[in-house]
Amino acid sequence: MKMKFVALAVSAALLTGCNDDTQTVEVIKEVEVAKEIEVVKEVVKEVVKEVPPTPVTSVKNIILMIGDGMGPQQVGLLEEYAQRAPNSVYKSKNNQTALSKFANAGHLGLSLNAPHGPTGSLVTDSACSATQLATGISAGSEMIGLDTQGNKVATILEKAKAMGKATGLVSDTRITHATPAAFASHQPHRSYEDKIAEELISSGNVDVMLSGGARVFLPQDVASNEEVQKQLAELGMPSGVYKKSKRSDNENLVVEAKDQHGYALAFDKTQLMDVEGDKLLGLFANSGMADGIAYKKCQQDNSCTQPSLKEMTIKALDVLSKDEDGFFLMIEGGQIDWAGHANDAGWMLNELLKFDEAVEAVHEWVKDRNDTLVVVTADHETGSFGFSYSNYNTPEAVPLPGDGMGDALYKPKFNFGALSLLDTLYNQEGTFYDIMGDVDGSYNFANSSAEQWQTAITKHTPYTVTLEQAATIHESHETNDDGHPLPHFEDFSDFYVYGTEDFTGKIARVVATQQNVVWGTGTHTAAPVPVYAFGPEGITKQFSTLQHHVDIANKMMAALGVN
Ligand SMILES: [Mg+2]
Ligand SMILES: [Zn+2]
Repeated sequence: MKMKFVALAVSAALLTGCNDDTQTVEVIKEVEVAKEIEVVKEVVKEVVKEVPPTPVTSVKNIILMIGDGMGPQQVGLLEEYAQRAPNSVYKSKNNQTALSKFANAGHLGLSLNAPHGPTGSLVTDSACSATQLATGISAGSEMIGLDTQGNKVATILEKAKAMGKATGLVSDTRITHATPAAFASHQPHRSYEDKIAEELISSGNVDVMLSGGARVFLPQDVASNEEVQKQLAELGMPSGVYKKSKRSDNENLVVEAKDQHGYALAFDKTQLMDVEGDKLLGLFANSGMADGIAYKKCQQDNSCTQPSLKEMTIKALDVLSKDEDGFFLMIEGGQIDWAGHANDAGWMLNELLKFDEAVEAVHEWVKDRNDTLVVVTADHETGSFGFSYSNYNTPEAVPLPGDGMGDALYKPKFNFGALSLLDTLYNQEGTFYDIMGDVDGSYNFANSSAEQWQTAITKHTPYTVTLEQAATIHESHETNDDGHPLPHFEDFSDFYVYGTEDFTGKIARVVATQQNVVWGTGTHTAAPVPVYAFGPEGITKQFSTLQHHVDIANKMMAALGVN
């Protein structure tokens, strides 16, 4: 429209300029022409102003956040809780999650996540999924940083480092666990955590590592070697962090990280706040870090000694953003997945809240910038979780005032779940593992009683179970190699693969009707997972589609200029 107007104005000016009669007329015409030229100039100016700027298609920094096991149903749980729980902790935040801020200000898409390509498979594990997210190529199940043929493949983190950028990995599980490992190590199997630890500290590719998992950094005899214990204590490591080793040699990777590779060390929250330097190794737990429920409780009485996922995120951003060349940072909320495997909805909600706190910290850091791409996604869904309606405790008939009711009472046939159940999930006091630990610390339930299960469930959850229900938990038809009873599932039993740990899935079944919650598996499902992208529009809009995880990696690498 504007262009047409310019053309008309110009031709009008030319026509007027051609008219020549008397001098007076000439002068009047000249004045008019001059006026019209001014108009044309103004219009041209406006048109020039309206030409859109070249879209930004590259960024200096990338922050990738992975909610392990955070499928669409898990995001739904978090959003329902935030928006509609009667006592939602988000009330003071307009009932708005940090995730939803990225959705509103950025782009939201979906991503298929199975092992990619014609030789792939249907369902992924975290190692394969993280490898595909880190490399953009097809990867094999349970492999770390390798292609399907076992070749090492450079990851986005390694490519960023090669460009001179700073790099970081943050997780609330173990730094050697599959998700962080796949960004900076290359191993035939995710279980090689001792080798992964060696690679992480010696490769020189990761500047900041903050997580748990000290046990694979410590010499095999750490539990009995007082000299080593003294050395670690002098470095500031609490005894709970060095209590045992999972190495089969005498290497002390903590000391090596400091002396040979120049890492500053931190082992608790205070040390992390105080530590300085651009290379940082923080190991805050012997194995996994505090779960979401333990974290909620220590926050309430101000007794947390480990840093939270949010605090580790803030520290990593502080350190990495000092690099003028930019950075790549991966942050994982890794225990959403663990709660999903345990079929423990209350724990899972608390993990989602812990993750969303870290998302909030990233949002705060990035919201006014245009040089950073944030991608938040999951590696896969865990547990086949869902709210569901049932015929348990169906609603009473009640009168309604509406003029469409006639003489009828309002009485749905089924129980569609009260919103107060969201608060009940949040208020859970312990995980299903805590319940099992109370009944038997070594998960050997050969001699457990229904009373023990009932007592432990009452202690850690708001749910009441009958002795009859409690007895179904430890009902067992088989034992493992140690002679310990294995949980018995009536159906889908082959999808509960973690032995005695899967008694959690039996607890889930006896509290299910009180939660309006069902689970389909003790492993993962292949549901497409949400992808949130925030940053320059020219980059983020391409995430608003149905893609695959390898595409996410390739889009991130293109944005960083490392294809
Ligand atoms: Mg993980
Ligand atoms: Zn998993």
